[in-house]
Amino acid sequence: MRNYYIAGNWKMHKTRAEAAELAKALVAELKDGKHKYLVAPSFTSLETVGAIVKGTNIRLGAQNMAAEEQGAHTGEVSVLQLKDLEVRTVILGHSERRHIYKEDDALINKKVQLALRHGLEVILCIGELLEEREAGRAETVCETQTVKGLEGVSAADLSRVVLAYEPVWAIGTGKTATPEDADAIHAYVRKVIERLYGAGAASQIVIQYGGSVKPDNAAQLMAKENIDGALVGGAALKAGTFASIAKFG
Ligand code: PEP
Repeated sequence: MRNYYIAGNWKMHKTRAEAAELAKALVAELKDGKHKYLVAPSFTSLETVGAIVKGTNIRLGAQNMAAEEQGAHTGEVSVLQLKDLEVRTVILGHSERRHIYKEDDALINKKVQLALRHGLEVILCIGELLEEREAGRAETVCETQTVKGLEGVSAADLSRVVLAYEPVWAIGTGKTATPEDADAIHAYVRKVIERLYGAGAASQIVIQYGGSVKPDNAAQLMAKENIDGALVGGAALKAGTFASIAKFG
């Protein structure tokens, strides 16, 4: 059985004091929560938030990391530095990394492999642009991003991979994919995993949906057979809204 997994991506928001306030409120709100939870603050707040969520049911995640272990990479943050901060999960291939910072599938795959080699859990984001959906290419784009993102990943390591389907046109726009449309892509991607890793792995892999998830649409999305959680952006910035998504139903 797959467990629901609700993750909050705080993006480039919040000072350390603001992040601490949000983290403390979430620890209180989610202490009896039944699902798996994660918060991914900015790098600058990881230590502060890490100290607050340590020993609770909320995991600490990072929003990105470098493709190299260490070295002359000005402005980057390494896997060793994340582990030093007790980060357990890293979000890779977010559409803002792909489309604003031009990260391609090869670079994302290098990061995925490095993170897994170091024992981290990876949330690998995939998703199509509006023009790709309108051209009938949503499935192909998600398939390519999945296959290339997972190149070289063993079946054993796949157990530490979570996929997040995030149609780019739904991120931060207030537009949500209908539960049916999202579920159809999730089912398609699950088939891709079956082809690559077999039926057992396909039935176990958690696939989150992301794109304007809010308290009033979370339950309908989560009710779908292939939707196993959410990656939440805007609505993760307030404890009340994130908690009500996290405790849907
Ligand atoms: C995201 O950036 O991962 C995201 C899903 O954002 P939002 O919830 O704001 O659409």
